[in-house]
Amino acid sequence: MNCENCAYYRQHPLYNFMGYCEKKGSAVFPDQSCPEAIQAVIKDTERLFEDYGWAYCMDCGTIVFDSSELKKHISLGHSLTQRFLEDEVATYESPGGD
Ligand SMILES: [Zn+2]
Repeated sequence: MNCENCAYYRQHPLYNFMGYCEKKGSAVFPDQSCPEAIQAVIKDTERLFEDYGWAYCMDCGTIVFDSSELKKHISLGHSLTQRFLEDEVATYESPGGD
């Protein structure tokens, strides 16, 4: 698992060849491999999956509704997100829901 796919990774706004790891608290490179990265992604992805009830796999281009399916995609090192469709959902909902 590379840093760019990790939940702790924050892309540098100016230099796309480097970023910042919130877990390590130091600069990292996007293609740097990290033994802790996949754990973070699993935790973050599973938490979001529980909240939303689905996840979008950026590698397969499919939406996952089943938690065992979700784990399968994660174990393959796929990047899953809810961000992709979150923006679309936002257009259907009226703003100012506070
Ligand atoms: Zn996948």
